[in-house]
Amino acid sequence: MMASSLQQFVHDKLIYATAYLQGRFYALPRGPSDVYGLFVSKLTSLIALPLPLLSFLVVPFYGGSSTTVSLLVFYLTWSALVISHDPLTIEIYGTIAIRGLCYLLPALAFLAFDLGLPDISKNVKARGKRQLPGNLSRQRLIRLATVAVGNVILAILVQAALEVVVTRILHLRSLIKVTTILPLPLTIVVDILKGLACRSALSYFVHRYLLHTFDSPLKSWHKQWQHSVTAPFSLLSSYDHPINYLLHSWLPTFLPAYLFRWHVLTWHAFLIITSLEELFVFSGYAVLPSSIILTGMARRSEAHFDSVQNRGQVGNYGHLGLLDFCLGTACKHEDDIIDDVKSEADKHRLQDRIDAAVQAALSKQHEMTNSSNSQGKLSFRKSKASGSHEDANVRADDTDDHDNNIQAEGTDSGPRRSGRRKLFKS
Ligand SMILES: [Zn+2]
Repeated sequence: MMASSLQQFVHDKLIYATAYLQGRFYALPRGPSDVYGLFVSKLTSLIALPLPLLSFLVVPFYGGSSTTVSLLVFYLTWSALVISHDPLTIEIYGTIAIRGLCYLLPALAFLAFDLGLPDISKNVKARGKRQLPGNLSRQRLIRLATVAVGNVILAILVQAALEVVVTRILHLRSLIKVTTILPLPLTIVVDILKGLACRSALSYFVHRYLLHTFDSPLKSWHKQWQHSVTAPFSLLSSYDHPINYLLHSWLPTFLPAYLFRWHVLTWHAFLIITSLEELFVFSGYAVLPSSIILTGMARRSEAHFDSVQNRGQVGNYGHLGLLDFCLGTACKHEDDIIDDVKSEADKHRLQDRIDAAVQAALSKQHEMTNSSNSQGKLSFRKSKASGSHEDANVRADDTDDHDNNIQAEGTDSGPRRSGRRKLFKS
């Protein structure tokens, strides 16, 4: 009985699998025109995908509508996007767009800028001419760019493959949630903070122990690939042996999204932050968007490369520097995270002082304007009141009031003022 039901089960599965494969086979393009048609349909779908999201970005500029309306439009367009597209398409196409726009394309543009305009570039590099990628041979640069781009594509393919295995073969729920229900802004912020903490910790321990401490092929690859370049530039962030790249860079980024099963929008927001961080921290530029924290992260990353090159005490395994500071692996003679935070605080205090000075100057000017206006009115009234001696005193009093204490006008000098008005009327 048991054997027959098992046989029936296997038989059914085989028939289903054969029919499924036949269907897929017939759907494959059979000639150049079919290939062209498939290509055009995929391209159209790729271009059409971000259109609902673009409408959300455009509304605040052209619609002149409130935030509530913008959110409503976003919700409707988001719902339309989720209903009309496969969840895997939304997750993977969004990932491709973000990795392309926030990391790969700017990193390639930085490389082109460094190679095309070295005289300008050396002035914005923290270490000047020494840090230009033009010091590497052309062949090495081509290999480096190919591996870096290949690693980014590989990471996206691994993510897509995992989703396909989980949803279409194991028939489980997707690793990243794609639903029409939007997460609350606070939930997104909290999730991203948790994700950044997890990513920093995992990346630190993989980098410290797997890539620099324990003797293994991973350690040799990391030294031969990423640390073969002395001064980092943006594209170097994704240049390493593919297995090292997946362990050190992709896994710490993707794992929090999987562990907390983020909404796809949270994943995309997190990916934007981490992509920009990779882009800037490895750039080597002295001028960066966040003048203190991001610059500190970039200088610590360079110090890590120096420590490996000098064959001394290797340190600065993390970008943020908090774990290096706590676990005593920060490179010597380099500013740590505490110095960065102090500098950032000092900078903001300086800004507060500038704001206070400007505010004080503006209020002083305002007082002077009010004072001269009231003087003008009183002079006009004095000429009408035939120039009595009492009026001259009143004018002097009034000027003093304005100069000394504006608040007194509304309280102590109130009865005196009403007395003055009676005097003018008489
Ligand atoms: Zn390293």
